[in-house]
Amino acid sequence: MTFAATVLSLYPEMFPGPLGASLAGRALDKSLWALDARQIRDHAHDRHRSVDDTPAGGGAGMVLRADILAAAIDAAAPADDPRPRLLMSPRGRPFTQRMAHDLADGPGAIIVCGRFEGVDQRVIEARNLQEVSIGDYILSGGELAAMVVLDAVVRLIPGVMGNIESGKTESFETGLLEHPHYTRPQMFEDRAIPDVLTSGDHARIAAWRLEQAKRLTQDRRPDLWERYEGKEAARKPARNPPPSDGQNGKTA
Ligand code: SAH
Repeated sequence: MTFAATVLSLYPEMFPGPLGASLAGRALDKSLWALDARQIRDHAHDRHRSVDDTPAGGGAGMVLRADILAAAIDAAAPADDPRPRLLMSPRGRPFTQRMAHDLADGPGAIIVCGRFEGVDQRVIEARNLQEVSIGDYILSGGELAAMVVLDAVVRLIPGVMGNIESGKTESFETGLLEHPHYTRPQMFEDRAIPDVLTSGDHARIAAWRLEQAKRLTQDRRPDLWERYEGKEAARKPARNPPPSDGQNGKTA
C-alpha cells in the first residue's frame, strides 16, 4: 500500500516543491508515495471566495473559517478514511522521529496547513485534527511545516532510502546525536582524518563513534542525554554489591 498524503492549503501550488527533488522526489516518481495538494479556497461559497474572518472577541489578524475548512476536509477524506488528520500548528505536539516512524508505518496522512492567526477551534474538535508543531518558532503558514513532516516520513518508507543501515545510526534513532563524519581527502588544510577511522579496526571505530556521539549529546542536548542515561541505567543489570572482603572496601 502506498503512503498517501493529502495536503489542504491556501497555497497548494507550493507542492511538491522541495518534495519533488532528490530522495522524496524520486520516490514520488516511482509511486512509493502519493501526494495530493488541494485548495481550501475551492470550498468557499461567497463571491469573493473568502476563507477567513475576523477573530471573535477581537484582536489582530484573521481566522480560517470552520465551515470552509470542514468542507475541504470532508471532500478530501470520507469519515471512514483511516489516515490520521494533522493540523500544522505551533501549539501542537512537537514532531519527533518517533512520530515520523508511526506515520510511515501507516496508510498516509491528511495534513491541514494553517494561515493567518490560525484556524477556528471548532473544526479542530469536530474533525479530530491532531495539532503538530515542527518547533518553537512561528512560520507564516503550515506549508513548510507540512513539507518538513512529509520529508521526514517519506525517507522512512520501505524502498525510499537506498542504504537502510544509514537510517539506524542517525541522530535520534539511537537516542544520541550522530558522531561526526569524514571522507577524502585525507588532509584538508591542516586537518587530518582521525587516525582511528583509517585503522581498519572496526571495534575501535565503533567505540570512538559512540564516545563522540555521547560527548556531542551531553554538550548540545542535555535533554536527550538525560533520557539516554536513564535508558542505559535501566538496560544494564544492577551492579553487584562491592565484594565484602572484610577490609571495609579498602584494598591492600
Ligand atoms: N497565531 C498562531 C500562529 C499562526 S502562524 C499562534 O500564535 O499559535 C500561521 C500558521 O502557520 C499556523 O496556523 C500553522 O499552520 C503554521 N505554523 C506556524 N508555525 C508553525 C510551527 N512551528 N509548526 C507547525 N506549523 C506552524
